[in-house]
Amino acid sequence: MVRVSPRSRVAGRPTVVLAVVAVVAVLVTVTALLLAALGTPAPAARGTAEPPGGGGPTLGAELPVTRFTPLGEDDGYLGEGEGVSPFAEDLPLLTRMDPDLLAAVRAAATAAEADGVDVVVTSGWRSKRYQRFLLDAAVTTYADEEEAARWVATPEASSHVSGEAVDIGRTDAADWMGRFGAAHGLCRTFANEMWHFELAVEPGGTCPAPRPDASAG
Ligand SMILES: [Zn+2]
Repeated sequence: MVRVSPRSRVAGRPTVVLAVVAVVAVLVTVTALLLAALGTPAPAARGTAEPPGGGGPTLGAELPVTRFTPLGEDDGYLGEGEGVSPFAEDLPLLTRMDPDLLAAVRAAATAAEADGVDVVVTSGWRSKRYQRFLLDAAVTTYADEEEAARWVATPEASSHVSGEAVDIGRTDAADWMGRFGAAHGLCRTFANEMWHFELAVEPGGTCPAPRPDASAG
């Protein structure tokens, strides 16, 4: 004999309720997806301006306004292709350079000028975040961290960040500096960067052989 339990006789109603709940859930999800597709801003995006590690806002206190400060003069920043006279004043890229290096560059620039060559500084001292920016850009450009490291040192290792390096432009001036810079102690230190000079020899001496690139210890 087949027994029909009382429970199974009323099973129809809960099933209908479950089906309705499921349909409503699907509709809510579809609506949310449609709104997202239409570009409705997600409320969570507002939180991204908060500083990392910062606590939540205190009741009654003003919300901190933190923005990314663009790279500027105080970072030693110069736009791509730009250059400044080594005799310019009050520029951090020059004033935060090792004073001996700046003096050597100015002396060399004076000698170059006598040869009809105009020396410009295309990079000098750089802030750590400027160097980080350059390294990140190189990693994007080369799509390869190892290749990027051949051209741009880390903020910790860069001789630009420590104020001990200068990039010389234009090409004729970099060429002049490679031939006559040693008279002022200036040497090309990386074989793959004809523009990059450091104090690496006693004035009038012979420059040591340059390292292959920035990734070579
Ligand atoms: Zn350099």
